[in-house]
Amino acid sequence: MEIKILKDILNANEQIAEKNRQLLDSHNVFTVNIMSSPGAGKTSLILKTLWKLKDKAKVGVIEGDVSSSIDAEKIGKEGAPVIQINTGGECHLDANMVNNALNNLPLQDIDVLFIENVGNLICPAEFALGEHKKVLISSIPEGEDKPFKYPSIFHEVDVVLVNKIDLMPYLKFDTDAYTKVIKDINKKISYCLFSGHCYYIVLKIIQRRYLLKVIEC
Ligand code: MG
Ligand code: ZN
Repeated sequence: MEIKILKDILNANEQIAEKNRQLLDSHNVFTVNIMSSPGAGKTSLILKTLWKLKDKAKVGVIEGDVSSSIDAEKIGKEGAPVIQINTGGECHLDANMVNNALNNLPLQDIDVLFIENVGNLICPAEFALGEHKKVLISSIPEGEDKPFKYPSIFHEVDVVLVNKIDLMPYLKFDTDAYTKVIKDINKKISYCLFSGHCYYIVLKIIQRRYLLKVIEC
């Protein structure tokens, strides 16, 4: 019974996500859903990509958090259109929340839209939002066991960025084992080891042209 209800919720979500996708496509807005556990570096990645894209593309942002508008304020200071969604306890964004945000964004003036999901490795993987690509930020302090513990999110995403590699000398993290596991889970996945400056892999997916190859930086 509970499984059926969950399926119905996900099916309904899927339909709204499809509408979101059509709306985004009709305005030619390329949309990236960014997911991670709390504190892995989603907002920082968005900010860095935004600076890099300045004068090249118009960027909009949807910020998802359980509460507060701290991240939206950081983005807003850069002059980008931003909508903060407070989920009020929900640990993920769903397509309906994003639909409301889309209706309040100047889509005709946006080329690239980042959706920063709620920091959580579990349900964001299940809820399509209408995005074109999904990026997961993982980080060295989280440990190399996350693909074993949360395989479904690794299965869903197009790109994994491993952040905070400057902490590598202090923490045990076997990158070869980690990348082997994520490739076992998802053959199409691209990954990048970075330390806060590897926004270019995101720039590449924005170019829409190709499935990324393995890049280390
Ligand atoms: Mg954030
Ligand atoms: Zn959730």
